[in-house]
Order: sequence, then C-alpha cells, then structure tokens
Amino acid sequence: MSISFNPNAPAKSTDTLQVEMVRRVSNGGIIDVSAWLPTQTEEEIHFLRTKIRQENGERFSCFCCGHDVLLRKHEHGGHYFAHKEKNAAEKAKCLYQQKGIISLEERNRIRYHGQREGSRHIKTKQLIEKILCSDPGFSQPEIEKTWTTFADGWRKPDVASKWNGQPIQQIVFEAQVSNTYPQVVAERTDFYRKQGALLIWIYDRLTEKEWRTLHADTFCSNGRHLFIVDEECVTISEAKGQAHFRIYSQRPEVVPFKRPTDNRWGLEIIQKENFDLIPFSSLSLDVDSQTANYFDIHDDQRIVKHKVLCAEVQSGCSYDALEKSIQEFIKNNRPIDRKQIEGWAALICGIESKRLGEPIGTKLANAVGVLNLVYDHHPNFFPHLIHTLDRLKIDSPDQRCGQWKKRVNDFYSGLYKGGPIPQPHKKSSELLAYIYS
Ligand SMILES: [Zn+2]
Repeated sequence: MSISFNPNAPAKSTDTLQVEMVRRVSNGGIIDVSAWLPTQTEEEIHFLRTKIRQENGERFSCFCCGHDVLLRKHEHGGHYFAHKEKNAAEKAKCLYQQKGIISLEERNRIRYHGQREGSRHIKTKQLIEKILCSDPGFSQPEIEKTWTTFADGWRKPDVASKWNGQPIQQIVFEAQVSNTYPQVVAERTDFYRKQGALLIWIYDRLTEKEWRTLHADTFCSNGRHLFIVDEECVTISEAKGQAHFRIYSQRPEVVPFKRPTDNRWGLEIIQKENFDLIPFSSLSLDVDSQTANYFDIHDDQRIVKHKVLCAEVQSGCSYDALEKSIQEFIKNNRPIDRKQIEGWAALICGIESKRLGEPIGTKLANAVGVLNLVYDHHPNFFPHLIHTLDRLKIDSPDQRCGQWKKRVNDFYSGLYKGGPIPQPHKKSSELLAYIYS
C-alpha cells in the first residue's frame, strides 16, 4: 500500500528558489536553502512551517535584505523561502525578489558571503567550546541545546556551560559574527536574565575602521568590555588550564601634561584602549546587569576625576571640589580640615609623580621632589606614601638616591626627622586601598 504523504522522505526544494540564502535568527546561522532542504525530512520542514508562523516560534530572515521570510510549498511539492512582506523587500531593493532578475554573478556573490559567514559562525563556536573545555571550572559545554520555559518560549544558546566559581545558573555564550537585530539582542538578554543565566556575546573580530552598531551596543552595555575569540585564546587557555578570552576595553587613565599658564604639571584623562587576554576567573559576573567585567568603568571614572582634582589642589587651586569628592567617596558630608585635604592631595600627587615620572601639581625639577614635599609638609601622610609606593612596587631601592634615599632608609629604621615615625593619617587608609586596588 502506498502512502500519500511520507513524513520521513527528504524534503524537496523547488527548482528556482526565491530567497536562496537565509539566516536563522535564533543563532545567526546562515543556510544555503537548496543544499539544506534535502538534509531535512518532510516532517521537519512541515513542523518548521508552523513554528515560523507562531508568535514566539522560530524566525528566519533573508540574507540579502534582512527581512523576515516564510517557508512556502509549491503545488508540485517543493519547499522554498519567500519574503513575508513583499513590500519591505521591494523597498530594501532586495536581490531575491519574486520578479527580480538576478544575475548568476550576483547570485554566486551572495552565496559566497553567506557560506563564509556561516563558517565563521561555526568556527567561533568551536573556539568557544575549546576554551571552555580547557578549564575544569566550566562544566562540559552544551552546544545549541534548546532551553524551554513556559512563559518565554524557547531559545537555543550557541554554547552554554556552568561555571562553578559563581552562584550563577549558567553562562551562555553567543557567537556574534553577523548583524543580529538589536531587538533580538535585547529580547535574548532579557530571556537569560529571567533564567538567572548570564549571556555573553562573543565576536570573532573587530572591524578595523568603523564599528558596527552592534559592536557599540554590546560594548556599552557590558561596561566597555567586548569579548573576542581567536586561536591564541585557545592556545593560552589550554596551556594554563584556565579559560582566557581576548577582551577589548577602553579604560580611563590619567596622563601628565604641562599647563601653559603656569608651567606646572597637571593630569588629564584619556581613554586607553586595551586588547588583553584575560582569564575568565578574574571577571566579575552580574546577572542583573548582564555584565562580565574585569574593571568597573564607573569606579575608574570616579578615580581618575579624583586624581585630576588632587593635582589641581597641589598646584594651588581651590580645594572645594576635592573636598566634595572625598566626602562622596567616604559617604560623609562633614567638612574636612584644609590641612588634611592638602596632605591627601600631596600624597596622591606623590604617588602619581612616581608612577608617571613627572612632578605632578608642581613645577619642580623632578618627580622625587613631590615625594620630598610630602615628607617636609605632611608628616601624617608620609607613612602612607612609603607603604603605597612599596605595595605598587614603583620605588625600587636601587632607584632611590640623594635625600629621598636617606629618608626612606630612616623610615625603615623607625626614624622621621630624627624622632619617631608620625601616626599615619587614619581616615586615608581605606580610600587609598580603593584608589590603588
Ligand atoms: Zn530579501
């Protein structure tokens, strides 16, 4: 007995396909339709037809114009993809239009781009998987396993794993090689947040010149960190047995500049680009904000602004703004003694002078002059200065010379100006530890 419909038969495609290359929106994968259809059964395709038409079901988009496409079936039995809204495709001047004539050359060009993008996506997922497998802190990664919840429909994460260093349900890595639509990015981020999972978007490259909107979106919502994978990440991760990712970041820093008005050295803020290999274990993970960061951009911004104010006070400017800044840090609005504000500013300028090699806040001949200023005028801040330079390892004994050398040696033998060491200013310790953490 012959059956009139065989769900197990391979799906047929029409001879001429309307939209030849499509993108699966849930994972960004690119599909070459005529090659792909026969790898699916009739049952799978008919199931998908329904899924596509459901509200929270699966979505496919045209690789050429980006508008939604639907699976259709020809009266002779072949399947094909067609634009959901013909007008939208027409407006976008899509090459895959029903009546448009598309040259073979153009057809091949689109196919070439599609296949290349598809293979980039696969490659990126493989790199992520290898990185996670290298680290015993990650559970065996699950590749494209479907997550289902009653309220939110379903999602297929590219790579998901548990990370035992943190009380987070799961870490989900999504390879981002193509322009996923911002709406999809937002929806997906929301979905994982509700599940108590953390979604990390991973790119396989940075565009050299102009960033794509999506790079900027991801970078800004992840506290100025952008994850990238390459072969070197895998090599390092496997060698160290610890997952490493390349993270592009922009971190505020202070640099010295000579003020033309009075020839004193001030500090100005720059944004330093970094492109470092960072161990995953050193990141702070946060499900609520969906961030994975190795520095806190807001903390950094406050700290550099504070350093600038210290340089201004040291060079004789009004100390009101610095007082306010300290009050905000210590969350206490009580007025601060002027002498203490000056001592604090001198201390920070001393550390910055040694760190940056210029006499910050002054027009002295060299950086060490600023350290001697602290010694001469702010005895209670002098012990902090010695300890912080030591902790940051920026004043090695063989570098010290002259007066400063003797003063440090005296300090370590318990002497200050021939008498006992002054009490270090008590309230500074915590703030100092925060600024130079
Ligand atoms: Zn199109």
